[in-house]
Amino acid sequence: MAPSGADSFDAVISLGSNIGDKAGNIAHAIEILTSDGAVELAARSSDYRTPPWGNTEQDWFVNTCITVRTELSGRELLERCQAVEAELKRVREVRWGPRIIDLDVIWFRDQAIAEPDLVVPHPRTLERAFVLVPLAEIAPDLVIAGRSVSWHLSRIERSGVEPFGDEH
Ligand code: ATP
Ligand code: CA
Ligand code: CA
Repeated sequence: MAPSGADSFDAVISLGSNIGDKAGNIAHAIEILTSDGAVELAARSSDYRTPPWGNTEQDWFVNTCITVRTELSGRELLERCQAVEAELKRVREVRWGPRIIDLDVIWFRDQAIAEPDLVVPHPRTLERAFVLVPLAEIAPDLVIAGRSVSWHLSRIERSGVEPFGDEH
């Protein structure tokens, strides 16, 4: 767990959606993921409106980060995340293309996992403002690749990542 005390957590998950009720999809995904007690919500960032990444010819996203406590392994947690994607009827088409929901395991208990279908910490985290901005809200001192989340965030361009309010 990291850090210690009431703020402790086992994993960081990043969520994103750019189809339909984007913020609603994220809220629904968190609800399903944490519904049976095996994955307990520790903290939830606010929602952010973010520009598309990788494939910029698509609609803007809503992105959110959560920290969770769980006894599951990293692989079991990934499977839970994929089950949530399936339940929300995510369809896989083009890489980095539009999606109703995406859940990525960003960090798991200081573990480095490098398997074909599970890489943790998530390899593109440190270049993604849409992950680091929400994560800095709930875990600024979490250390990834030897430096804190706030340190990593201070080194990248974060323009276009804005709070997503109820008025949108
Ligand atoms: P990116 O990984 O760059 O954010 P993406 O989320 O669009 O891209 P997906 O199509 O959702 O990519 O996932 C492709 C594969 O990535 C999944 O089948 C999964 O096995 C694998 N994967 C590897 N590491 C992780 C991780 N840490 N969290 C989630 N999926 C992962
Ligand atoms: Ca992703
Ligand atoms: Ca993914």
